[in-house]
Formats: sequence, C-alpha cells, structure tokens
Amino acid sequence: MTQTLFNIRDRLALVTGSSRGLGNALARGLAQQGARVILHGRDLALVQAEARAVAQETGAEVEAVSFDVTDAKAAQQALETLINQHGVPDILVNNAGLQRRAPFNEFTPSDWDALVATNLSSLFYVSQVITRAMGERGSGKVINIGSVQSKLARETIAPYSATKGGVALLTQGMAADLARFNIQVNCISPGYFKTEMNTALWQDPAFNQWVEKRTPAQRWGHFDELVGTLVYLCSDASSFVSGQNIFVDGGMTSVV
Ligand code: NDP
Repeated sequence: MTQTLFNIRDRLALVTGSSRGLGNALARGLAQQGARVILHGRDLALVQAEARAVAQETGAEVEAVSFDVTDAKAAQQALETLINQHGVPDILVNNAGLQRRAPFNEFTPSDWDALVATNLSSLFYVSQVITRAMGERGSGKVINIGSVQSKLARETIAPYSATKGGVALLTQGMAADLARFNIQVNCISPGYFKTEMNTALWQDPAFNQWVEKRTPAQRWGHFDELVGTLVYLCSDASSFVSGQNIFVDGGMTSVV
C-alpha cells in the first residue's frame, strides 16, 4: 500500500536549476525512486555531465536541458522542444534561484531585477508552458522551492525575501487555478543548507553559530532531508493536497 501510494517510478520530472546544489540533490532523489529525470541549468556541458553521473549512480533515465529561466521566449522554445522529445512532464520542480545581499539602502535596481526575474518571474514563464500541457492531459504536480524567507525576513536580503514570499502566494494562486485540471501545486521551503549560493554564510563561523542556535535541530540541513517531502508531493499520496507550503527547516520557522 505504502509502496503504491508513494510510487513515482517512470514518472517524468523536470527539475530547474539542477546542475548543482539543492536542485541536483532533489533530482537525484527522484531518480533514486525510479523517476525519469530531466536536469537543467544554463551550462549545457555541465548539465549533460551531471545527467550522465546521475544516470550511472541511480540506473535511471536522465536527460539534460539548458535555458535561462529569466528569458520567457527561450524557456518556451526549450520546453516545447522538450515536450516534443520526451512528452509532458508529470512533475515540475521550480528550483532555480539566486541570492544577492546588501543593506536595503544600498541595493541596486539591477540586483533587484535579477532577483525578481530569477526567483519569481521565471516560475511564471516555466510553469505556464508545462501546466498548459499538463492541463490538456488532466494531471500534474508542480513543486515550487520557497525558503524560510517565504515567511520571515532578515537583514541584507529584503528583495530575496520579497521574491520568496511571492513564491508562496504564487503557489496558492496556481493551486486555485489549476486544481480543476487535476494539477496539484505545492511549495517546499528549505531552512539553511550549505550550497554554493550561501558559501559566504557557512564559511563565516559567527553565522554558523547563529544557524545552530536559531534552529531547534541545532544544525544545518542535509540535502537528502528534502527528498522525502518532495517524493510525497510528487506522488499519489498527495492527490488532495494543493497550495501548501511545507517548511523543511529543522523547526526554525516555528520558534522565535
Ligand atoms: P545554487 O546556487 O547552488 O544553485 C542554483 C541553481 O539554479 C543552479 O543549478 C543554477 O544553474 C540555476 N540557475 C540560477 N539562475 C538560473 C537562470 N537564470 N537560468 C537557469 N538556471 C539558473 O543554489 P541552491 O541550491 O542553494 O538553491 C536552490 C533553490 O533553493 C533556490 O531557489 C534557493 O532560493 C532555494 N533555497 C536554498 C536554501 C539554501 O540553504 N541553500 C535555503 C532555502 C531556499 P547555472 O548557474 O549553472 O545556470
């Protein structure tokens, strides 16, 4: 029963921003469960190399696709080609993201624009192509990657927080519009995980100490700790769950 409920074998999953970091771990996790996975990033050679590595490691079917998620036209063209070649994804994970840090009064308009384009507008561009096709088929799962900052702000990252708050509400809005097509849209909001994006943080002993103190679990997350929630949200086990935001953060957002 449990095996059937959570079974995602042979389902086709596109994970944006899976050339490295959390997206790569999420894609690996899906491949380990037998899903057919499409890795993505801007550097095709890097994505192809990762696709080969994941296929070898998991025995799963793994493809590579490359486009800039902030370019609506390029995304549409690449996704239409992908659909023609591989079929309509059963699962879309909107993970590609960017971080820029500066005090609010010093933030530049170009950094603001880059954050909004990468962390928020891209979800609209990428999702719409896929959810139209999912809608015609009558099924689909979309998982948006939010953040602790979908709920809580922090100094020097006001624009990032604004985009991640937007991701949480976009998730609810998409859930409202897409449920009639049997498409469930949910959000996973990770706590602190050591990736390239936050190198400056985990290399700073004071920040490490802050994370360990501020997180009830008293530590950073391990990449594979995101996979269980993702598999649940990609599977039939969550067929009546939509518009939710699940925090995988060691309890951080539950406490002051
Ligand atoms: P990384 O910087 O390690 O990876 C980011 C990924 O996104 C890369 O694969 C990168 O590929 C891709 N990407 C970035 N910009 C674009 C673009 N314009 N077009 C296409 N691909 C792009 O980040 P993380 O793994 O840390 O973060 C992944 C997600 O998780 C983000 O949405 C982030 O906000 C979120 N998150 C991360 C947390 C953490 O602790 N690390 C905590 C909470 C949320 P490439 O540059 O090769 O194109």
